[in-house]
Amino acid sequence: MSPNQRVLVLGSSFAGLNAALDLRRRLRDEVEVVVLDPRPRFTFIPSLVWLPFGLRRPDQVTFDLGSTYARKGVRFVNEAAAGIDLDERIVHTDGGRRFDYDRLVVATGPRLAFEKIPGLGPDDGHTQSVCNLDHAVRAGEAWQRFLADPGPVVVGTAQGGSCFGASYEFALNLQHQLARRGLADVAPVTFVTAEPFLGHFGLGGIADSESRVRRMFDRRGIEGIANAAIREVRADEMELESGRVLPFRYSMIVPPFTGVDVVRSVEGLANPMGFLPIDHRFRHPDHPEVYGAGVAVAISPPATTQVPTGVPKTGQMSETMGKTVAVNIASDLQGGRHRDLPVEKMSAVCMLDGGDDGIVFRATDVLSTRRRRRGFVTSGPHGHWVKLAFERFYLGTRRRGVTLL
Ligand SMILES: Cc1cc2nc3c(=O)[nH]c(=O)nc-3n(C[C@H](O)[C@H](O)[C@H](O)COP(=O)(O)OP(=O)(O)OC[C@H]3O[C@@H](n4cnc5c(N)ncnc54)[C@H](O)[C@@H]3O)c2cc1C
Repeated sequence: MSPNQRVLVLGSSFAGLNAALDLRRRLRDEVEVVVLDPRPRFTFIPSLVWLPFGLRRPDQVTFDLGSTYARKGVRFVNEAAAGIDLDERIVHTDGGRRFDYDRLVVATGPRLAFEKIPGLGPDDGHTQSVCNLDHAVRAGEAWQRFLADPGPVVVGTAQGGSCFGASYEFALNLQHQLARRGLADVAPVTFVTAEPFLGHFGLGGIADSESRVRRMFDRRGIEGIANAAIREVRADEMELESGRVLPFRYSMIVPPFTGVDVVRSVEGLANPMGFLPIDHRFRHPDHPEVYGAGVAVAISPPATTQVPTGVPKTGQMSETMGKTVAVNIASDLQGGRHRDLPVEKMSAVCMLDGGDDGIVFRATDVLSTRRRRRGFVTSGPHGHWVKLAFERFYLGTRRRGVTLL
């Protein structure tokens, strides 16, 4: 029997991959699950902080999506969504194909908005990025050039950013590499962040996360500058809005995010930033056949900060959203109970590696405005080993198409 309904998933990373695999497990054969993504391989993005230092190769942190999906009966199309017609319920691809859908899942992640700060980014600017595989490879090439002529380093997250953990991990790993090579004195590391205080993580801090981060930075001689907004990056220096100028020979800055163009450009689909509004079921309030998951969805910060910051949408949160979407679409199409998950009730789990130690935390109620919310935070050498073990577990299971329902 050929399927008579179709769920179309745009994007196949943490949110889309898990949504698609869970949908396939929940839906009977009358429903086809189709996934579009221009990238043929899944990348375990959390490992990209190691790639520039030669600690991982691309083939070690990626796997082929086509064979994973084929094993599970999901149709994978290695093309990008290029247009969405909400009235006709059709998606056009950059390969000239068109797919109609009964339910659409938008899991397209972020667009990296380097253009918001002059001189930012690896294409038209002077800073590196580890936000995708291509950028991490180039950050590694720049690292090799830097090692031949080392000097000051600046790492951080720009104003409007939300992915704070990545810059902490990168700063700590980079400093660890410098120390191993005896270069710590010639290459001092400065950390700049839009967060109101170190260890805030876009979540208001978790328990004593601020003092833990401070201790780690002090031990390694990293200067941390909170409430930092970057005015401009030039070839060998970064100017902050405060007027301070930071010279550098190597810099990695996580940029602000917006939604991707194909979502941003559809009238009535996204907010002005290009993120998808969602209700408690991760469904679009005006288009109930459209769901969203992961970084693609809109989550407003609960409080304003001196320098604008966003709420992080971690890989684990993206997966939870993808799984919630799968439950609700299966209920829409084949009956059963829906699942409500208000964003403010979500938890964020994060493992930050520091090279030979790390921080692991779990923050409850991610939109709470309480300073230093309740939660769990631990740090030390075990933080490093927890992340290594999780990487192995995650890639091993998802490569085989296994998720935990
Ligand atoms: C360096 C780094 C380290 C991190 N470490 C951690 C960590 O330790 N723990 C943690 O929980 N989180 C971590 N994160 C955050 C985590 O990577 C993100 O939360 C996660 O990747 C979000 O998943 P996503 O599926 O929403 O989006 P993404 O991972 O960004 O994926 C979006 C997908 O959509 C595809 N896509 C884009 N446009 C289209 C289109 N037009 N049509 C079809 N497909 C499209 C893309 O190719 C991509 O595959 C880290 C992030 C970075 C950058």
